[in-house]
Amino acid sequence: MAEILKSPCIILRSMRWQESSKIVTVYAREWGKTGLIAKGAFRPKSPFAGKLESLNLAEVIISHKDTRQLQILTDIRILHSFNHLRLQADALAYGLAILEVLDQTLEEHQADTVFFDFSAFMLQSLERTKRPEVVFWYFILKLSSFLGFRPQLQSCHSCQATSSTGKATFNLANGSVFCAACSSNSVGGVQISNTEWQFLKHLQTFPHKKIAQFPDSFESSHHYTTLLLDYLNLHLEKQLNLRSLELL
Ligand SMILES: [Zn+2]
Repeated sequence: MAEILKSPCIILRSMRWQESSKIVTVYAREWGKTGLIAKGAFRPKSPFAGKLESLNLAEVIISHKDTRQLQILTDIRILHSFNHLRLQADALAYGLAILEVLDQTLEEHQADTVFFDFSAFMLQSLERTKRPEVVFWYFILKLSSFLGFRPQLQSCHSCQATSSTGKATFNLANGSVFCAACSSNSVGGVQISNTEWQFLKHLQTFPHKKIAQFPDSFESSHHYTTLLLDYLNLHLEKQLNLRSLELL
């Protein structure tokens, strides 16, 4: 027997299936990442027309059977379509990158309502911020915590100092920071300036509801994208392929 289920979801991606249908990958609040079939989505009068765009936040109704690999989409209602975000090239690239990260890190059917709400809020924060890159870095930091490898950024791993005179070392393998005086205690790691360390500390404890208003007092540096993705990749033991960031 098929069960009728309803959930808010983020549309991650979709592809054509046979002549007129689509396979849509969604991240659903109630049941996690799932593949859905939208039958007849390409027919002119389809109730799905225009609603299956990546990024869309929508409430979906599905016909669910445990024995099926893909579930059947029966109805969809748009909750938020991100029209404003789609007009801003940089913010859009970071939004699509968040979708790629979700798609490539979440296991199928792994539901977590708190993390879903956080992810949807990050996408909405991208629409309101002047610094979309900060929202993306914040998302990667919080995702690392959610996946169980929160970096220990708040003080030096050896002496508990909270700042460094000279370059600090971020040890990606164990997720800890060593101040310049203690750097020799770190086996390997990436050198970061004290300013970069202070930025990451501040970012990690910043309230997520206000991330769109993150202060301008810290300079942006694309170094953070590489640093945080290297950290995530190392702990995931795979290489995320984020093609959206190549648009920047
Ligand atoms: Zn130290």
